[in-house]
Amino acid sequence: MKTLVFGSKPYDRRFLEAANASRGHALTFFEPRVDEATATLAVGFDAVCVFVNDTVSRRVLEILAECGVKVVALRCAGYNNVDLAAAEDLGIAVVRVPAYSPNAVSEFTVGLVLALDRKIHRAWARVRENNFALEGLIGRNLESRTIGVIGTGRIGALVARAFKLGFGCEVLASDPSPDPELVAEGIRYVEPEVVLRSSDIVSLHCPLTPGTRHLVDAKAIAEAREGILIVNTSRGALIDTRAVIDGLKSGKIGGVALDVYEQEADLFFEDLSSEIIQDDDFQRLLTFPNVLVTGHQAFLTEEALRAIAETTLASLTDFEAGRPLVNRVEAEQVRPPRIETASTKEG
Ligand code: NAD
Repeated sequence: MKTLVFGSKPYDRRFLEAANASRGHALTFFEPRVDEATATLAVGFDAVCVFVNDTVSRRVLEILAECGVKVVALRCAGYNNVDLAAAEDLGIAVVRVPAYSPNAVSEFTVGLVLALDRKIHRAWARVRENNFALEGLIGRNLESRTIGVIGTGRIGALVARAFKLGFGCEVLASDPSPDPELVAEGIRYVEPEVVLRSSDIVSLHCPLTPGTRHLVDAKAIAEAREGILIVNTSRGALIDTRAVIDGLKSGKIGGVALDVYEQEADLFFEDLSSEIIQDDDFQRLLTFPNVLVTGHQAFLTEEALRAIAETTLASLTDFEAGRPLVNRVEAEQVRPPRIETASTKEG
């Protein structure tokens, strides 16, 4: 299929081209993201391929439909940036990659917890300055501490197991669909408020929905354990950034590790090292010694990129052949239709 790949980075191109060698789709790579201005470039293409921070609103879909596009292929799991109801109205199929590598994200999450808890990010910076002093780097053993996991789907279940079986932690979890295997392994399901109140470390792995937006807010922070560590590799808007900043300033929060950020669409995936960042909340976050931020890279392993490319191109091949689309996302599967704003885009 003639496919325009929006927002493509060199690594996307490498992995998509490798996966396409046996399939023969006509792929064209374009670095800017799709939006109302760039969507017109899709004229004559059958499909567009987009990523987490592309804005696929009703207007964008209308332009794509006028261009002749029949499929939007998300090369990610999340689809909160696509107006699925509009896609359905316009007869455009939306496909995604539901699970490309839960291990990639869960392993990165464990890495963030260890780095934050043992202050590895600070040690790295010190040693580069020939400062080998240890004062200020005291951490705590993970064994016997309580880890809270919110959302025990593909990624959260692996994180919960890693802490329970690998580190001997007590693991509390919350999920509307508890996993009986995790229960059998000794993981205890409780209400989300109890997880937030009773954990030394909380790791977020639920999707972003109207119900989970700002799950970690001022109230949750006020009720949390003194010195709580908060880790988010799921979706930025699960956390109220301003409330977290207040919690860090007061010392109530002991540390925060983020791979996702509420307003990341304006920042992540680009080299902005010569720019003046206008997002004051983000800049404030970076000033705390106990905050560790990465730019949405938890998924970024060779295995995940290979799986993303394979699944995306297989969906295009199925569409072309008129076969059922196993990875199709449809409006009725999800929340009431709404257009995404900058604050809810990512994933
Ligand atoms: P999943 O669908 O397998 O699991 C999500 C789980 O959350 C499900 O078990 C669901 O029942 C549960 N859930 C739903 N609402 C909840 C609520 N209110 N409270 C608690 N749990 C709730 O998804 P996954 O593949 O494990 O992905 C989890 C998150 O990680 C997603 O938001 C995804 O976008 C994000 N993600 C991030 C990256 C990254 O690079 N940082 C990569 C992939 C996925």
